[in-house]
Amino acid sequence: MKILVTAGPTREIIDPVRFVSNKSSGKMGYAVAESAVEAGFEVILISGPVAITPPDGLAEFIRVETAAEMADAVKNVFPSCDAAIMCAAVADYRPCIKSHSKLKKTDGNIFIEFERTEDILASLGKMKTASQILIGFAAETDNLDDYAISKLERKNLDWICANIVGVEGRGFQADNNAVTLFSRDGRKVEFELDSKKNIAKRIIRTIFDT
Ligand code: C5P
Repeated sequence: MKILVTAGPTREIIDPVRFVSNKSSGKMGYAVAESAVEAGFEVILISGPVAITPPDGLAEFIRVETAAEMADAVKNVFPSCDAAIMCAAVADYRPCIKSHSKLKKTDGNIFIEFERTEDILASLGKMKTASQILIGFAAETDNLDDYAISKLERKNLDWICANIVGVEGRGFQADNNAVTLFSRDGRKVEFELDSKKNIAKRIIRTIFDT
């Protein structure tokens, strides 16, 4: 099986020295990619800018910076894959204009208008064939189950891995995580707080029945 994994944040450019991004470290996505390699799958990892080293044994590693670059890379690779696990924290908005020269500071406030980026996961939900498996992540601060299930349906996913963010010691940047998996056919599987590596192994084992 050939599996696409996305990981890390994206950077949305304001000018040559400034960008808007988020706290994603890429640890969860890289752990998922590593576990998929260990399970014997052919893995393509598409990653935003992170400080960690890609796992050994990848079939392909593609580094991107912006949400638009990630969208292009993902849509290019997905048709040849059997499954996609979308762990990346893709920016939902980007500045409407990108300045080619550094913006000068002035005494007053600055207003930057933002526009929506493409929802890559939703695009794959529309593209996917009957045999392809599509897995999304959901990071929520509250109402985890309701939001996760509605996202699963809205984006036409087969599975969603939901985790609580905003709690010390898990989620963004942490080495540990606790996730709840929901499947399209109504299954709910909970993994208690554990290392992202162990959580990733369990995700791969549950979804692909390895
Ligand atoms: O709806 P929300 O952004 O919370 O969904 C999170 C899921 O959607 C994650 O799997 C993330 O990788 C994916 N996503 C995406 N493109 C976006 C925003 C989110 O693929 N622009």
